[in-house]
Amino acid sequence: MAKLYFNFSAMNAGKSTLLLQASYNYQERGMRSLLFTAALDDRTKVGEISSRIGLKSEALIYDPKLDLYACIEEQLKEQKINAVFVDEAQFLTEEQVWQLARVADHLHIPVMTYGLRTDFQGKMFPGSAALLALADILREVRTICWCGSKATMVARVDETGKIVEEGDQVVIGGEESYISLCRKHWSMRKLGEPNSENKDALADILCEPVDH
Ligand SMILES: [Zn+2]
Repeated sequence: MAKLYFNFSAMNAGKSTLLLQASYNYQERGMRSLLFTAALDDRTKVGEISSRIGLKSEALIYDPKLDLYACIEEQLKEQKINAVFVDEAQFLTEEQVWQLARVADHLHIPVMTYGLRTDFQGKMFPGSAALLALADILREVRTICWCGSKATMVARVDETGKIVEEGDQVVIGGEESYISLCRKHWSMRKLGEPNSENKDALADILCEPVDH
C-alpha cells in the first residue's frame, strides 16, 4: 500500500538534501520520481529544488490553487511515476494535503513531503498541521541548537543579527535569515555561539535510533 510521508524539521536541517537523495534512489533503480516545490511568488515559472551541499533538480511548482491530484493524474498519462516528492510542504493547503493522500490511496504512488513544522513565532504552518494529522509516516529530521540540545524551533533574524518578533509567516525576498534553536533558548531569545564541543551531541542527535 502506498503511503503519505511527512519529514519535518527546524530550519537548515538538510531536508532538501534528503529529498534529492531519496529521489535519486528511485532514479538509479530505473524508476521515475515527480518533484514539486512551492511557488513563493507569481513570477516563479520553473521550479528547482537545491540543497546547501550543492545537489539540485528540476521540479514542478505548486501554488495554493493547484489541484495536485489532477496534476499528478495528468502527468501519469504521459509517463510512469513511481514516487512523488514535495518540498516546502509547510506551504500546502489542507485541501492539497488531502489531494496527496488520495494520490497514495487511489493512484497507489508513495508521496514523500518535506517541510518545517513551525514558523518563527512558534506557530504551526497550516500545511504541516494537516500533514501531522493525515500522514501515515512521520519522521523528524534532526539538527541541534548551539547548546547541543535538539533544535525544534526557528528564529527569524534580521540583517543586524537581531531576533525578529513580529511579521508575516512568510517573507518573500527579505534580508532575514533563520536559525534553529532548542525550545529553551528560543523562549529566552538567546542565539549563543556555535560550539565545536557539541560535535558528539550532533552525532548523537543525527544518528539517534528511530525507536526510543
Ligand atoms: Zn539551546
